[in-house]
Amino acid sequence: MIQEFNINRDETFWTPTRRLMNGKSPGRGKGRLPGGHVTDRADLKKAITLCPTCLPKFDSARAGYTTKENLPFVRGRCDGCMGYVDRGHLLVHRSLANLL
Ligand SMILES: [Zn+2]
Repeated sequence: MIQEFNINRDETFWTPTRRLMNGKSPGRGKGRLPGGHVTDRADLKKAITLCPTCLPKFDSARAGYTTKENLPFVRGRCDGCMGYVDRGHLLVHRSLANLL
């Protein structure tokens, strides 16, 4: 997805749907290794969603990540294998865990 900026856009252009779609992550690019994509997200302290297969491959404690106890499972696209998961694990950085 191409990043859209609100330059030369009036208020009628930015509907709630367009605002949500503008903030959506484009995901891992073609030819990009899953580990690099997940590590880049960890360096930016972004939330990471991983499926049960990809979760043991990411050392969350070393990267300073933790799971939210009130959100044991989330539904969405795995940042590792890019597959849709019904019971994925949401990892957030420890410094942001109390804010989310
Ligand atoms: Zn996965």
